[in-house]
Amino acid sequence: MGTSLISDDRLLIDGAWIPAVSGRTFQTQNPATEETLAVIAEADSADADIAVGAAHRALTQGPWATMTGAARGRILYRMAALLRERFEEFVLLESLDGGKPVSATRRQDIPAAIDCLEYYAGWADKLTGRVVPVRSDALTYTTREPAGVVAAIVPWNFPLMNAVWKIAPALACGCTVVLKPAELTPLTALKLGALALEAGLPPGVLNVLPGYGTTVGAALVEHPRVNKISFTGSPAVGKQIMRAAAANGTRIGLELGGKSPNIVFADAEIDAAVRASSSGIFFNAGQVCSAGSRILVEDRIHDEFVARLAARAKSIRVGDPQAAETTMGPIISEKQMNRVVEYIDSGRRDGAEIVAGGSRIGNRGYFLEPTVFAEARNDMRIAREEIFGPVATVIRFRDEDEAIHLANDSPYSLAAAVWSRDIARVPRVASRLRAGTVWGNTYGHTDTRLPWGGYGGESGIGRDLGEAALENYTEQKTVWISLASVAA
Ligand code: NAD
Repeated sequence: MGTSLISDDRLLIDGAWIPAVSGRTFQTQNPATEETLAVIAEADSADADIAVGAAHRALTQGPWATMTGAARGRILYRMAALLRERFEEFVLLESLDGGKPVSATRRQDIPAAIDCLEYYAGWADKLTGRVVPVRSDALTYTTREPAGVVAAIVPWNFPLMNAVWKIAPALACGCTVVLKPAELTPLTALKLGALALEAGLPPGVLNVLPGYGTTVGAALVEHPRVNKISFTGSPAVGKQIMRAAAANGTRIGLELGGKSPNIVFADAEIDAAVRASSSGIFFNAGQVCSAGSRILVEDRIHDEFVARLAARAKSIRVGDPQAAETTMGPIISEKQMNRVVEYIDSGRRDGAEIVAGGSRIGNRGYFLEPTVFAEARNDMRIAREEIFGPVATVIRFRDEDEAIHLANDSPYSLAAAVWSRDIARVPRVASRLRAGTVWGNTYGHTDTRLPWGGYGGESGIGRDLGEAALENYTEQKTVWISLASVAA
């Protein structure tokens, strides 16, 4: 693979760029123009087998197996430094492949990836065990060891960031990784692979296999030499992975979907609530697992809130992702756009009222208007199912108990928000919400240092990020050494 902006048609296996065994390729498209961006090698089960073999060898033999935590950390710091050097290249590539505005990839995707690499670089030499005294004639202690070969399978909405959320802690812990990027957005994952080699990561420690979920993805999940599957994606595929992983008893972590309630009480600071609720649902064209897609608004301010949210939705600049002023780009694909349109139709049929948007924009590129439904009920499909598009569903409530009931009446449990000037109400409501993250008087913040994940169900199990992610990529070993025979 060269240094050109667009990757060529090779897979990264065992430190080398090689074609797929089948020789097959697929194309990745620019969703803003519908043009082909690049031709990519298409991995399948044969390549998965070779890559897992390489990752297993790198885990057990060679420099990685004996490298100190400090040395692993230095490689991660070098990856972060190289990413900083190539910042604009990654900003543009992520924007072209996923249709994300450069304003967003510059502010969020790439800085978050750099931060994550640096955070876990710092952890690499701090993975300690404990001495746990049990009896006087034994030395008893625990160590933390690498979990093994990790299959990291990621979606297309934050391609680089989600990949790094898995790779950085896995490498810090001494694991080896086979990364399967989404078929719609393979470009930055391949660039990251090149950057890792340049940073001195030994061969086989990070392998990158673009291709389809049902072929190479499924082969990785079923592979008996994969020790840990770390998946971010849809609930349907997550559950399939859980079933498949059961065959080998493979450890899994699942970051799945959301239908996050964003609760606005009448005593909220309404300007701030409208602004953040708008970006909470329209950021990344609503293609965010934690999008604030169910906006619950107290009766007393409902009409004013809806009018202001609708006005704000209409003012969003939808268009060319590479233009600096654009705040919303296209939907990732024609299929996904049609799915969102289907949901908009279902909302109309179910009797919700469209107060902004509702249509496609133009006929080239997959652009949709930011859409707001009012007068919705929590039992409508637009309130129950994850749309993964720029569609806000506004539902009224009367009082705090009803708000909490509506918020928790969902198969999802990833995130939620509470807006109120009452300082006691925010933590009180937060404690009653079934959600892995609750924001108070803000929406959407994540940070590498804070754990991220759902309370089960359609939102998945386990936590990415923070100290919590170290659990994902380590095994605790108990060591019991008898001192009695030494003394005898
Ligand atoms: P998806 O489940 O279709 O695909 C995700 C990844 O899984 C892709 O790489 C895909 O190729 C692969 N895959 C598909 N079928 C597979 C199989 N049978 N075996 C193994 N791998 C398979 O999801 P998507 O449409 O790419 O992403 C959108 C979903 O991701 C949404 O539900 C969203 O909420 C979720 N998501 C969650 C988080 C989070 O942190 N909780 C973050 C981002 C996205």
